[in-house]
This record gives sequence, C-alpha cells and structure tokens, in this order.
Amino acid sequence: MPVEPPIHYQQSTPTNPLPLKPTAQTSGPAKGIPGISSSSTDAAQEPSTSAPSRNGNRPSSRSTEKRDTIVAPSPASGGIPEPTPAYLLRASFLPLPSPVPRPLLVVMDLNGTLLYRPNKRGAPSRFVERPLAKEFLRACLDNPNIRVAIWSSARPENVGRMCAQLLSPQDLARVVAVWGRDRFGLSQDDYNRRTQCYKRLTRLWSDPAVSASHPEASLGSVWNQGNTVLIDDSPEKARSEPHNAVTLPEFTGNVNERPHILSLVLDYLDQLAWQMDISTYIRVRPFTVQVEQ
Ligand SMILES: [Mg+2]
Repeated sequence: MPVEPPIHYQQSTPTNPLPLKPTAQTSGPAKGIPGISSSSTDAAQEPSTSAPSRNGNRPSSRSTEKRDTIVAPSPASGGIPEPTPAYLLRASFLPLPSPVPRPLLVVMDLNGTLLYRPNKRGAPSRFVERPLAKEFLRACLDNPNIRVAIWSSARPENVGRMCAQLLSPQDLARVVAVWGRDRFGLSQDDYNRRTQCYKRLTRLWSDPAVSASHPEASLGSVWNQGNTVLIDDSPEKARSEPHNAVTLPEFTGNVNERPHILSLVLDYLDQLAWQMDISTYIRVRPFTVQVEQ
C-alpha cells in the first residue's frame, strides 16, 4: 500500500508562535508501540504512599525518589490491550480529504504533556506549564469543531490540581470529561501500584456524556476512531488505538523548550479536521517533531 511520508515542522519563532504551518516532509510510519518502560514519568506518577527513602527521610524531589518498577495491569484490570482487527482494517485505508472541516474529540493528557510536577511529594500542587499550555487549551475550547476531554492517569485529586492551574472554572466547565486514575477500570491493587495505564478510547466513546458532546449527536453522529485524537507523551497509553495518537516529546519542565510543540499540535489538529477519517491520516502522516537540544 502506498504510504505518504509524515509531515515535518519548522521551528516556530518566539514572537509569533501560534500557529505554524508545516513546511516539509519526513519519512517513516507511525511510531511502534514500545514495551513497558520505566522511563515514562506519566506511567509512574501515582505511588500509593509517600515512602521514606533509604536514609529514612521523605524524598524531597524527583531526583531523590526511589521509584517502583512499572508493572503491567492484571487481568482483573483488563490486561494489556491490542488493537482489534476491525480497528486496524479501518485505519489501513488511504486518507481521504474532507471538503469541510469535521468535528474532533481531543483527549488531553496532563503530566508530561501540558505540564510537569517537579516535586510530587514535597510540593504536589506546584506545576511547571509547557509553553503555550493555556493558549493551546483555550484555542481548542474556542474552536466550534473541537470538543476537549482530559484523561490523566493521575489520581483525581491531582487531576483537579492540574486542571485548576490550566483552566478557569468557566473553561473547565466546557471540557466534556475530566477523567483520572479512577477511569481506567483498574483493580484496587493496580490502582495503588505503579501500573501501566492504557487509555482505551472505547471507554470514552461509550460514555453517555462524552457521546452527547458530539456537535451532531442529534443527527446520530458519534465519536469514534475517525474523529478522536489522543494527545499524550507516551505512545504506550494509546496501545489499543495507536493510529489515533499524537505523541509529544515528554515535557520535563524546560520552559525554554523549542520549538513550541503545542503550536505545532494545533496546526496538526487543523490538518486532521479536514480528513474523513483521522486514523487513516495519522497512520501515514503521524505527528513528528524534533526538540532542539
Ligand atoms: Mg503523561
């Protein structure tokens, strides 16, 4: 099957970071799905207790935290998902442009994607925002074709803290779903362990409130793989629907990060809106960006 190369982006300028147009092409298919790795901060974010370090003191920063190994979810939590044959078949077709922009459900991760928490235990409410994080959310919320859901594997109380930093109460009320660790179907043990979480989009698609948020729900339109984007710093989170993933470089607190990743994502969302089925497009033209060192 012919494969078009993915789009490569040019660095944005600090003076006018939003939006930026794609300028060139790169090669390569969608990123592979790696195995479980202990390098992902988001996968590991919620230790069950504030365990003392070896010297008996409470860890005061990320660098001093002794972290458990990430474990796979147990069968009771659904195990490790794979894409269904029907999903892969639908995504295997060539992308087809739409004559009009179509609705998008944008599912946002928080930690590592929009912000970073440098000291989880000592200062759990202090977050460093990725450049343009608030502007990105506002732009999505103000777009009549976009609905925004937030889905983080952090505990609900921490999801609330992160949302409070990024969104006004009025804007938060426009988010169609704010889901935390309690929305992964984890067993109690897995919930309290450092368990790899999988964002099965079928959970969102079957949720009544999320379904009702489709701008054309009254006409029978639904959210599905053709119109849902999962934006996350971990490709593993999207294991069950890999061709709906926009995978960003993990944000670890560099407020001088270049290029402005989120301005590039906005532009990519605009491209997706003009597609009949975004899973076909993401498969052949995944979002790619190189962070300057
Ligand atoms: Mg994350």
